[in-house]
Amino acid sequence: MTSFAKQLLDWFDQHGRKSLPWQTDKTPYRVWLSEIMLQQTQVATVIPYFKKFLDRFPSVDELSVATEDEVLHLWTGLGYYARARNLHISAKKVMAEHNGEFPATVDELMTLPGIGRSTAGAIVAICHDTHAAILDGNVKRVLARHFAIGGWPGKTQTQTLLWDKAESLTPNNRIAEYTQAIMDLGATVCTRSSPDCPACPYFKSCHARINGTIDQYPGKKPKKVMPVKSTVMLIVALNGNVLLKKRPSKGLWGGLWSFPECESVEAIDSLLQSLNLEELERTRLPEFRHTFTHYHLDIEPIRVTIRETNRIAEPGAEIWFNVTAPQSVGLTKPVTKILAELPAIRVR
Ligand code: SF4
Repeated sequence: MTSFAKQLLDWFDQHGRKSLPWQTDKTPYRVWLSEIMLQQTQVATVIPYFKKFLDRFPSVDELSVATEDEVLHLWTGLGYYARARNLHISAKKVMAEHNGEFPATVDELMTLPGIGRSTAGAIVAICHDTHAAILDGNVKRVLARHFAIGGWPGKTQTQTLLWDKAESLTPNNRIAEYTQAIMDLGATVCTRSSPDCPACPYFKSCHARINGTIDQYPGKKPKKVMPVKSTVMLIVALNGNVLLKKRPSKGLWGGLWSFPECESVEAIDSLLQSLNLEELERTRLPEFRHTFTHYHLDIEPIRVTIRETNRIAEPGAEIWFNVTAPQSVGLTKPVTKILAELPAIRVR
């Protein structure tokens, strides 16, 4: 075992977190779920979602037979919904192709949608205590700083250097604890903006700290100007319900429910016509911006009250969403935001 690993394990014995919900009863299903939820999301945010998800789907079998709506509903608010869709597809694959048992090797796990090399490594290391390296955001930060590995980790060359380090430092025993420890160190001590170096086991050996260059690691992603797109969202209100449409499974907000949209205010009439709805009153609501990874979306919400109608929502594609007694479906973030800010919607 390298002195890097030994120092880390000594630190973990004293300071590591050992009672997070997924650290007790470490089954591949629970560790997989936690690893997927923890991608791009902080531990404190994940904990209530993790518990709620497990209460509803205690096993991969139960998750595999759930509807996509139920899964997305439990994910609402956690963001990056492709994670939830992939989780659901992977559960079906585990049942259909692996007899309900999670594969035990990195290569096999990586055949499941949404499981990359680092997540596969974490599952193998934590559940089976078998040698496998991980390189999530926290680990990248610790390694980049300690060894002064420059460059943006998204670049192949930098990523290869980081993976080589991660592989060579992962010990051959106490692998599960080492894996947990290096994630913990990044999350609790070597944090992005205010690392607590005096509390770090690498205080004396960390190159970035010694050289006073911590803020240079990991290297930043090259900046590019994000394009701005715009859309009009129609909040069609009737008797305390709003009309929602299901987004196509693939693509933006796949499988989630959102307001009918059109490109501009001028297109509202034809949109209402195509929906077979008769407008009574129209109110412009404050515009806001939703930012995706690759672009900004400027949203102009417009509330439209309509004449009483017997029009039935198209099954599977539309719902009259009850604002006061919401159905269990996954909602896009703008829908959640608009509904939360618009109690007045309930009145008609
Ligand atoms: S000494 Fe500071 S910068 Fe270096 S690994 Fe530890 S916390 Fe991070």
